[in-house]
Amino acid sequence: MRLERGKTIFLLIIALFFELFFPVVSFSQEVPIGTQYQYKVVIDPGHPSENGEGCTSHGLKECEINWKVSILTKQILDQDQKIQVILTKGTEKEYLTNKDRAVIANKNGAHLFLRLHCDYGNGSNSGYTIYYPDAKGKKGDFSGPSDEVIKMSRIGANRVHSGMKKILEGLLKDNGIKTDRETLIGKRQGALTGSIYCETPVVTIEMVFLSNTHDANFLKTDDGIKKMASAIAEGVKNFLISSSKGN
Ligand SMILES: [Zn+2]
Repeated sequence: MRLERGKTIFLLIIALFFELFFPVVSFSQEVPIGTQYQYKVVIDPGHPSENGEGCTSHGLKECEINWKVSILTKQILDQDQKIQVILTKGTEKEYLTNKDRAVIANKNGAHLFLRLHCDYGNGSNSGYTIYYPDAKGKKGDFSGPSDEVIKMSRIGANRVHSGMKKILEGLLKDNGIKTDRETLIGKRQGALTGSIYCETPVVTIEMVFLSNTHDANFLKTDDGIKKMASAIAEGVKNFLISSSKGN
């Protein structure tokens, strides 16, 4: 009896060690019988929202770029039969609050909620940046996301980043991974609104700085839009596929 208990404790310690150092995504959502999908990704083309239509620069509109890249990313991921992609909006100009967008991800039981945006800075800021919530934020009395969502979002941000890097290396500046609190709104609230209401792993991609000439020229061409969509699709696959290997 004592020996059995010792063995159980030993196994628990081993399991804890692996969980701490090799975190594995545990997808609680069951795949409905009869569907071939294993994973659900909700892609959110940012804007129009309570934060307006987004930035405009170098003749480009953020709302339009977010929409174009989202559609193409969906098309690329749709080729993988294991992945179902759901967009938060049906048309480019459809208005949704950032909370509405998170609720769509929650209702669909997304394995990953991906929010696409473009940044605006002074002309010298350039490149792509990945954001995730690393702490709970507050909107009124509501506080979120949960510790589990924070943990999974951190893993998501890392894997999406390394996937994107493979495609965008040498094309756009890589600003790496940052936390929601490093954004203007996240700094005030503790996390971005779209993350606070999230019950799923959430990653926000600021694809470029539209205010930068090089970045704007990159997304002005169909080839640039295609490269960005391929990079994001690669990031999504890198998260979903490599995460499930441990399962
Ligand atoms: Zn935006």
